Amino acid sequence: MHTIRIPPVIKFGENALGETEYPKNALVVTTAPPELSGKWLDKMGIQDYMLFDKVTPEPSIDDVKAVISEFKEKDPSVLIGLGGGSSMDVVKYASPEMGKKKILIPTTYGTGAEMTTYCVLKFEGKKKLLREDKFLADMAVVDSYFMDGTPEQIIKNSVCDACAQATEGYDSKLGNDLTRTLCKQAFDVLYDAIINDKPENYPYGSMLSGMGFGNCSTTLGHALSYVFSNEGVPHGFSLSSCTTVAHKHNKSIFYEKFKQIIEKLGFDKLDLKASVSDAADTVMTDRGHLDPNPIPISKEDVMKCLEDIKSGNL
Ligand SMILES: [Zn+2]
Repeated sequence: MHTIRIPPVIKFGENALGETEYPKNALVVTTAPPELSGKWLDKMGIQDYMLFDKVTPEPSIDDVKAVISEFKEKDPSVLIGLGGGSSMDVVKYASPEMGKKKILIPTTYGTGAEMTTYCVLKFEGKKKLLREDKFLADMAVVDSYFMDGTPEQIIKNSVCDACAQATEGYDSKLGNDLTRTLCKQAFDVLYDAIINDKPENYPYGSMLSGMGFGNCSTTLGHALSYVFSNEGVPHGFSLSSCTTVAHKHNKSIFYEKFKQIIEKLGFDKLDLKASVSDAADTVMTDRGHLDPNPIPISKEDVMKCLEDIKSGNL
């Protein structure tokens, strides 16, 4: 038997943001400054709402507690996470604690977080990846409106992440026919959008990617990427090389096409400060990504992949 979890209601496409009806007395949670969130709220056409805009980037359980203590008594009708991962993660955790439903509206995209049961929060200064059914959105609203004004570098990294998640998800041993259908379709949409310059389709492709990989897992590419994240390299950028090399090693059906999109987007070579052997030891501890990899991975395999990344041998 297989189980798939996706939000029961998904509003997407042009004008989804403005045409969706929002319940009165909703609590909107965001990281955006008032001049930006004000613009978004106007576009949503939402009225009679409360606003919490003090979420910190890379939020912790303290942000969740702040929302609950300030608004539990005010009894909001629903929580709306409006923003990037940070705002959505706080709402994912806080709304079940408050016994409220949640609406997730990604303003950056690529992670597909609005579709998944994942939640990333810091506990005692340490980032933790949680996964529970209660984190799933009751409604998601996906609109490419927010891409206007997003810096190009962020768009590039985001779409690379979406492509990596879709293709690694397709290859995951935790997948099934339906996740593979979603992941394949996600990559087809994203590939077409990148190669044929249709960035307005990125949010839809990312959404499909989230529906797919969110119900299985990512694999070797993501496992490799975290040693670069530890050195401050943006997630999407590190995947440009890591997922390409992982696809080569796994003999993935996506290897050639993934390389094409990386070339089209134009990414620089990655640098690794740690020694290859130390970094490989770190990668080997990441069983959550390595166990579902389509083929078993040894430390020697990881070292070979890291050497290839360092020398630009993709
Ligand atoms: Zn990712």
